[in-house]
Amino acid sequence: MRYLSTRGRCEPLSFTEAVATGLAPDGGLYVPESLPDISGSLAQWAKLSYRELCLEFFKLFATDLGEQVLESCIEDAYSRFDHPEIAPLVPLEPGLHVLELFHGPTLAFKDFALQLLGNLYEAQIQRSGNPITVLGATSGDTGAAAIHGLLGKPGVDIFILYPRGGVSPLQERQMTCTGADNVHSIAVRGTFDDAQAALKDVFGDLEFRRRVNLSAVNSINMARVLAQCVYYIYAWLRLPEQEREQVTFIVPTGNFGNVLAGWWTRKMGLPVHGFRIATNQNDILYRLFTTGRYEMEPVRPSSAPSMDIQVASNFERFLYFHEKGDPGRVRDILQQFRETGSYHFGGFDRDVFSASRADDAMIRERIREVHRRYGYLLDPHTACGFEDLPREGTRIVLGTAHPAKFPDVIEGATGVHPTAPALEALKKRTPRSHNLDPDPKAIETFILSHITESCP
Ligand SMILES: *Cc1c(COP(=O)(O)O)cnc(C)c1O
Repeated sequence: MRYLSTRGRCEPLSFTEAVATGLAPDGGLYVPESLPDISGSLAQWAKLSYRELCLEFFKLFATDLGEQVLESCIEDAYSRFDHPEIAPLVPLEPGLHVLELFHGPTLAFKDFALQLLGNLYEAQIQRSGNPITVLGATSGDTGAAAIHGLLGKPGVDIFILYPRGGVSPLQERQMTCTGADNVHSIAVRGTFDDAQAALKDVFGDLEFRRRVNLSAVNSINMARVLAQCVYYIYAWLRLPEQEREQVTFIVPTGNFGNVLAGWWTRKMGLPVHGFRIATNQNDILYRLFTTGRYEMEPVRPSSAPSMDIQVASNFERFLYFHEKGDPGRVRDILQQFRETGSYHFGGFDRDVFSASRADDAMIRERIREVHRRYGYLLDPHTACGFEDLPREGTRIVLGTAHPAKFPDVIEGATGVHPTAPALEALKKRTPRSHNLDPDPKAIETFILSHITESCP
């Protein structure tokens, strides 16, 4: 299997090359050159554990990685999940389920991809013998998940910038209480945008980049999307036979990453009826799928902060397949979007895609209602999925975070204070972080003096 850029202006790569490269040199995102048909394998896959299924699935894509390496990367990635099913499907009533994706080390669904990606990086370092320095900026969950995917790994130092006072206290503890020498969390005096701008400048300093073998941690690595495909297949296979007709996945999303993975599995032959794109008040994707208009607006902070985004970076991968793999069309549409801030699509397949949006008041109401009706606690992101639920068929809502990550919103809505042992343990640990200005030179100096791996 080869991987192509959505913008079509660079050479195809193998799986391991595409994973190591991240963003394509032409600014595009890597996609598999074709999506294999899995429909004939489903009956056989029904018997597999989560890890076994993940291995069978990745064998179709990671064709230049030895099966043994792949197997050990996968085994290890899901060994730190605290539920034997890894992604348990929890029924609330017949035809309505929550797929709990928050049993990984940071209690959010990003662990599915970043635990595995960390191991793929490690395998790469072992093969090449070159240590790497990972640098990222985060407004919360991605940074924590990236840190936990890489902590303690030989050959890697990870530096994460976050806005001081701009992430939740629990998220900050997840980044600063790891106890690992190769993790360096940096509270930047400024906003997330300031941190992001400084990071871009550091990446723009090519000599520095080479000197420390700098690598990005971001939401666009192709392996992340593939890792997220697995739980859609797993969930479908866990449904009772009579509930497998007309299945709709309801996906709380901001960046389109999660729903893209589900849509790919449908294109591969998983018999899914449709996808509901559930946004918070930052509703660019809701507006897109209800009106056809892709239009940027300023971000308004919400109680589901991991979906507070302006431009859905993974949307470009959807666009590529929507435009039937024509990179010229992708470039034209993106250019018009960049120049005018909007693009109007003729429309999307309404049978496959529907959308909903929830503002903060609706999020609280859904948390309260689901707790009253089922005794089940939703986190604010998952709660977006319960707004305007489809009435027909089987509904599977993706539970993207553990409620204990957002105790104040939950307590305000239900009176219950949710807890999780992993988070309670964090409260006893000593945080370790550094304060820096969002100044690229200061960040480079800091990296050079804190790197634990020797770089040539
Ligand atoms: C990142 C995140 C999301 C949004 O994921 P997308 O990649 O935008 O689909 C939703 N919920 C939680 C808890 C997250 O951390």
